[in-house]
Amino acid sequence: MSFRQALIRAPVLKRQAPVAAFAAPRRFYAAAATAAAGGAPKPPSPNKKGPFSRAAKFLWRLTYGSALVGAGLVAYAIYEARHPVDQLPPDPSKKTLVVLGSGWGSVSLLKKLDTENYNVVVVSPRNFFLFTPLLPSCTTGTIELRSIMEPLRHILRHKKTSVAFYEAECTKIDYANRTLTVRDNSEVKGDIAETKLPFDYLVVGVGAQNTTFGIPGVAENACFLKEVGDAQKIRTRIMDCIETATFKDQTPEERKRLLHMVVVGGGPTGVEFAGELQDFFEEDLRKWVPEIASDFKVSLVEALPNVLPMFSKELINYTEKTLKEEKVNIHLKTMVKKVTEKTITAEVTKPDGSKQLVELPYGLLVWATGNMPRDVTRDLIKQIPEQAKARRGLEVNDYLVVNGTEGIWALGDCAATKYAPTAQVATQQGQYLARLFNTLAKTEALEQEINQLETLGHATTDAADKKSLATEIEAKAKLLRRSKRLMPFQYSHQGSLAYIGSDRAIADLTWGEGNTVASSGQLTYLFWRSAYVSMCFSTRNKMLVVFDWLKVKLFGRDVSRE
Ligand code: FAD
Ligand code: NAD
Repeated sequence: MSFRQALIRAPVLKRQAPVAAFAAPRRFYAAAATAAAGGAPKPPSPNKKGPFSRAAKFLWRLTYGSALVGAGLVAYAIYEARHPVDQLPPDPSKKTLVVLGSGWGSVSLLKKLDTENYNVVVVSPRNFFLFTPLLPSCTTGTIELRSIMEPLRHILRHKKTSVAFYEAECTKIDYANRTLTVRDNSEVKGDIAETKLPFDYLVVGVGAQNTTFGIPGVAENACFLKEVGDAQKIRTRIMDCIETATFKDQTPEERKRLLHMVVVGGGPTGVEFAGELQDFFEEDLRKWVPEIASDFKVSLVEALPNVLPMFSKELINYTEKTLKEEKVNIHLKTMVKKVTEKTITAEVTKPDGSKQLVELPYGLLVWATGNMPRDVTRDLIKQIPEQAKARRGLEVNDYLVVNGTEGIWALGDCAATKYAPTAQVATQQGQYLARLFNTLAKTEALEQEINQLETLGHATTDAADKKSLATEIEAKAKLLRRSKRLMPFQYSHQGSLAYIGSDRAIADLTWGEGNTVASSGQLTYLFWRSAYVSMCFSTRNKMLVVFDWLKVKLFGRDVSRE
């Protein structure tokens, strides 16, 4: 026995258990390799290993190594997120860039913006970013709200130069005077609740509000699904309806009404919410409140002949079939006309084209019929003659500049473009504007340097100096020309995804030049989950969302009323 072998063997004898545990897979692979070769299993020989054994060993090491590297990267990301470095103070001589909103568009811009080039000020009534694609999951407690909220302070604190943030609503954009009126709408107010804020450049990213089309009773009686408070309200209301329905001596009709959950709008918001709600009923409510099982009903009301008009025909059919299997009642060609505290009146178009009014008693009404511009957006539209025809939002040019203005850009749901109002569009617009502002700053700096060099050139009489200055000016002018060549905004559609309930999702995926593929079912659901987790901005949120999913798998959803 060599000296090295003696050193290795000695502890083996002392620590039998752990070594045996590590040795087991090796013995298994070696035995399997022999069996695969057609011979009887022989004792493993350390020197003669088959290709299968070597491959298995390599795979094992690769997995082990990747897990270690992955854990290291996660640990580093967490450390970095929790330990921001000191920031540079803003430079008052720089231009003031005000960003309105803390949603998809504004936050994507802020993440990529070189803040040292401007005095950046952010104004938003909420001091967090909300990951809206997972908001429907929060209405039933599949995911907790805090898991999809990302503090804006975390994002801003990681910028190189500090950014001012005011938790306030912009109530007026005064274009002529280049000033904003901002109001603190929080419950706690100091001496000053409203003030003015001047800007050189302004980015409007205030999103949109829910549209009701002025249908009577909607604003007063319906729940919406856009903000954190909306999801909380729905979650409370679901349990409230259930507890009230099971109250002593409740009449059967009233019980049926209270347990009728109606979703108006068969767009992705309505479909995703209906799917989540039916899951909640099937997986949890039915078990913990069995007495409601026969009366609990989810209905989806849509004015058009089909749900999800933005998806391919194949996926629309799949969704409608799946929702029916899940026992969601789909009312197509049914346009809601009026809402009261307990009933919905809708007009149904029958197959022969005739119309009929129907009444649907409801306990919970969730209204998801799309967007309309916010008041502050509409007010700005009114101030600019070039926006006279704008209806859906601020009309912008190819560089996202608000038509008829100078130094004002709009992005996301508050801008009217040829694209659908989605997070995907808002994100790409935010990233584009960050590039635009970074380029603008570079261009301005180069122009200033060229001016200075030209002044020097005029002042000097020395021919050699003049020549070297001219060379330097030419080099900078070349850079300037290159940096001024910013392309107009171009949206690249990656596809559409939606959850439709019972662990199934649909996806219309796009790649290359217009190649598309439609996919649906449980594998697509896994893809949906991994895509959305990877899209969460921070490691913290990614982990919280995954923990929530695991928690619900293990313990089910919480049925307490908040
Ligand atoms: P928002 O994200 O709405 O942000 C607007 C910001 O402006 C907010 O921070 C708000 O507080 C702030 N604000 C409002 N008023 C003012 C004011 N007066 N002054 C200053 N700030 C103000 N899109 C997808 O692509 N995929 C999806 O899966 C998807 N799922 C969705 C699910 C739900 C339930 C909803 C409601 C939407 C979903 N969307 C999805 C659409 C997507 O959320 C929007 O298109 C996206 O949020 C638009 O981004 P935005 O920055 O324009 O607006
Ligand atoms: P939407 O505009 O996509 O759909 C609203 C639906 O409500 C329409 O189908 C419309 O016909 C219907 N409707 C309108 N008035 C009605 C009435 N009186 N009675 C019955 N039905 C009526 O709205 P949304 O689902 O809130 O989505 C808004 C935006 O957010 C869209 O651009 C959407 O693509 C995006 N979004 C995307 C996803 C996703 O990709 N998974 C999820 C949610 C939202």
